[in-house]
Amino acid sequence: MNDAQHITDQQSGENATGIWRFAKWLPAVPSNQRITLGEGNTPLVASRSLGKELGLSALHFKLEGANPTGSYKDRISALGVSLALTKGKVGCIGTSSGNAGASAAAYAARAGIPYYLYVLENILQAKMVQAALHKASITRIQGFGVSAEIGDRVFEWIEEQAKERNLETMITAYKYNANAMEAVKTISFELAQQLAFCPAPDAVFIPVGGGGLYAGISNGFRHLRQLGRIDSIPQLAAVQSAGCSNIVRAWTNGEAVPAPGDSTSMISGLQVPNPPDGERVLESLISKEGFGVSVSDSDVWYWQERLAAQEGIWCEPAAALSLAGVAEAVKDGRLKAGSSAVCILTGAGYKDGERAVAMAGVQENIPLVDINRLEN
Ligand SMILES: *Cc1c(COP(=O)(O)O)cnc(C)c1O
Repeated sequence: MNDAQHITDQQSGENATGIWRFAKWLPAVPSNQRITLGEGNTPLVASRSLGKELGLSALHFKLEGANPTGSYKDRISALGVSLALTKGKVGCIGTSSGNAGASAAAYAARAGIPYYLYVLENILQAKMVQAALHKASITRIQGFGVSAEIGDRVFEWIEEQAKERNLETMITAYKYNANAMEAVKTISFELAQQLAFCPAPDAVFIPVGGGGLYAGISNGFRHLRQLGRIDSIPQLAAVQSAGCSNIVRAWTNGEAVPAPGDSTSMISGLQVPNPPDGERVLESLISKEGFGVSVSDSDVWYWQERLAAQEGIWCEPAAALSLAGVAEAVKDGRLKAGSSAVCILTGAGYKDGERAVAMAGVQENIPLVDINRLEN
């Protein structure tokens, strides 16, 4: 990865911030139509204890929760909303399990265009609060996020509406919005820069819901290899919640298309029973670019807690999935002792406040004392 530190776009000028540092490798947007809130350029921090405990030579965490609205979706929104302006669209329309909506709402507000958002029936309140503050027009849809059939119908309806009303589709999947998804590649570009002085990691662990994040990171590494900036691609581990793991299941069974299966996972962001980019992830896994891992919701919560307690990193459960995936891969031998790995920690802990309260047990655990008692 010796040339990787030079990949930042010098032509964009000193003031190129956010994903626009990589503008020359993204779909073209004139510089006066580039919307940014300073997304991207997120920290990559080394594990101090969990990596050792798991027998790894190195474990790094990519802190995507440090993005402006708390998840990597900001990279996609920055590009998507800018493309909407470039194409003369009058607004944006999309679906979300939470983070994409919170993110697109912020970027649409910044661009001064309306955003029509259709969400899961069981959406987390904290994520809707964000979108509502940015004045998105929000509608919940019955059964969305539970039933694969309803999910497909929602996606199709959104696409029709976008065409009819001159709106930009904001669904964070290559299947529906390939141009905006190119922004995900900036995660790979940054990893190549940030790890330039380390050996390339053996594996990058990626939480998978709809599969777009995984597909984007894979495309980013392929792009770097094509350009000759890196000579090998780390193994890309697709980690799914066992309650919604149709991609990993298809890979295990040797199938090229994930069979739709309803979601029983409790983890917000991963309840995608009809993964739109599932075939893209499978193509990568089948071509041996990576492997699939599935973990239980309770393992995810366990590793979320360990990460907060031992590394000082509070991420949301969907993000902790990647670390749970590392632990599982170590256990089943796919990640050998002495290997190195990176976890993409996709979103910030505050995204799931309910889970955080349960995890910290604040009310029950913190004693209330009288100062007189402390003094004696
Ligand atoms: C969207 C999201 C994911 C899953 O990404 P997909 O592209 O749907 O696979 C994982 N974690 C967080 C925090 C997310 O917001």
